[in-house]
This record gives sequence, C-alpha cells and structure tokens, in this order.
Amino acid sequence: MSYELVDGRVVTPEGCELNVVRHCNLGCASCSHLSPVFRRSVVDPDVVRADLALLSRFLRARFVKVLGGEPLLHRRLLPILEIIRASGLAPRILVSTNGVLLPRMGADFWSLIDEIQVSVYPGRELSDDDLAHIRRRAERHGVALTVAYYSHFRHSYSERGTEDSRLVGEIFTTCQIAHVWRCHTVYEGHFFRCPQSVFLPRVIGRPNDPWADGLRLEDRPDMAGRLLAYLTSPRPLLACRNCLGSVGKRLPHHQLPRADFRTPQQKRTEELLDREFLAQLATRPDMDDGCVVADPDEWRVRVRERI
Ligand code: SF4
Repeated sequence: MSYELVDGRVVTPEGCELNVVRHCNLGCASCSHLSPVFRRSVVDPDVVRADLALLSRFLRARFVKVLGGEPLLHRRLLPILEIIRASGLAPRILVSTNGVLLPRMGADFWSLIDEIQVSVYPGRELSDDDLAHIRRRAERHGVALTVAYYSHFRHSYSERGTEDSRLVGEIFTTCQIAHVWRCHTVYEGHFFRCPQSVFLPRVIGRPNDPWADGLRLEDRPDMAGRLLAYLTSPRPLLACRNCLGSVGKRLPHHQLPRADFRTPQQKRTEELLDREFLAQLATRPDMDDGCVVADPDEWRVRVRERI
C-alpha cells in the first residue's frame, strides 16, 4: 500500500510520530533516537498545536504515535494528547513507552489514548504485579495493549559514517523505518521522513543544517503535492550517510552509562553493518529484524543464553 492524494490531503497507510521528549529514564545501547545523549528536553504544547493544525490540512494518518525519549516523562502529556485528538490528524492515538512509569498513570491518561505499546528490556522488566495492573487498566478503558520483549537491538548509527554513495543508497532503500513502518515525524514546524534524520544531526553535527532533511510546513496551496513528492522521493537523506537504517549488526540489548553511549558507534558504517541482513531485506523488505519476541518465556531464554 502506498501514499494517496485524497481531497487535497496525503493519506499515509501508517502513522505520524510525535516525539514529546528527547530524554529517557533508561540508557539503551544504540538507541535509535539517541535519547541517552540528550539532556531533559520537552516539546511545548503550543508548538504541537500549531504544527498539527497545519499538518492536518495536508496529511491524514492512521494513527499518531506519541514517543520520545520516554514520553511519560513529559509533565504536560495530557494536554498534548488532547491537542492531538482535536487536530483530526488521525483517528487513533498510540503511546509507545518503556512502561517504567506506566503504573503511576491515572484514569485521565488512559481515557485519552487508544493503544499503548510497552517495550520491555532486559534488566528493566516490569514486575508481574505491574503488568497485571497495566492489563487491567487497559481493559477497563478499552485501550489496545501490546507488550514487545526486546532481547536485541541493531546498531543504529555510525559516528564516522561512510563515503560510499552506493552503500548509502542500499541502506536507504532497505530502511524499514522509512519504507515499511513509515515512522514519519513532525518536529518543530517540519516534517521528517524518519526520526533518525531529526536526531542524528543534532548529535553528530552532520549535516551542518539540522533541518536539511526535513520539509518545512507552510501554508501554501501546493503543500500536499510537496509533501507527497517528499515522501516518495527515491533520494537518500543526508542523515543516511551516518545512519544504519535497518541493517546495523545485531547486538544483545544492554544498558550503558550515558557518557559511554557514543563510544561503540565510533566506527565506520562498513564496520557496523550486517551485510547478510541487508541482502535479505533487498528481497524481503518486511523481514523480521530478530530483536523482539512476543513470548516472555522465549525472551528469557534468549536473554539468558544471549542467542
Ligand atoms: S536516516 Fe536514512 S537510513 Fe536512517 S532511518 Fe532515516 S531514511 Fe532510514
């Protein structure tokens, strides 16, 4: 399924992402949003209101995904959820969280969302009591709950990048984030094809202009056409020179001290690349990346044995 232009709006078959904070209460090695390197940083609800008011005139998404960083760290999350609902950008609101703060969230939070995705990481598991409490809350409020158990991550980026333009093209065309999951992101008056192109330049300083990969949202008659052209462009983004897309080497998930987050990434793209998975994705773009298991018992075995 692809993008369509319907009644002057681009319709995407997936969602639109909104990173409400950059920072996180965990420090996952190779976090694809680079959250461990960011100090406390939250979006202003007034900025969200203005962005979504404009964007919703040109885009229709299946859902708005609220994430970060850890989104439950935003003290004004509830007004933001109300703003999203009122914008009409999408019929559903989904929150993606590590779940650590979820047991503290009240009925007002649960009544504002449609779906919640909890990512569970080794060493940061929720207790059985907390999970049972979350399941009861979700059921009571008619919220669809998904629990994803992560045993692995893939290297998300390279500090040194690559000069091999052909390789950059391959990383871009096999990128599940941009082309399969379509994690398109609205951020401070701009629309980005992926969150990595928002965060990578702000950490590694390349390209020099951190807005270079985004499309500025403007009130102009050809905006929907510009948005469609942006979303379907075959040209890699500038950030793809340092990003590993979906094809970084797989590593057992672990936490790192924040000061050490960038150290394992101080290598060239070629050294952090899983060439076998790249070749597989070239023929099967939606192939499982081997990082998540649905069954907690299988997850425990994988984590214990580092399979
Ligand atoms: S920067 Fe490029 S490779 Fe990385 S997620 Fe975005 S489109 Fe994919």
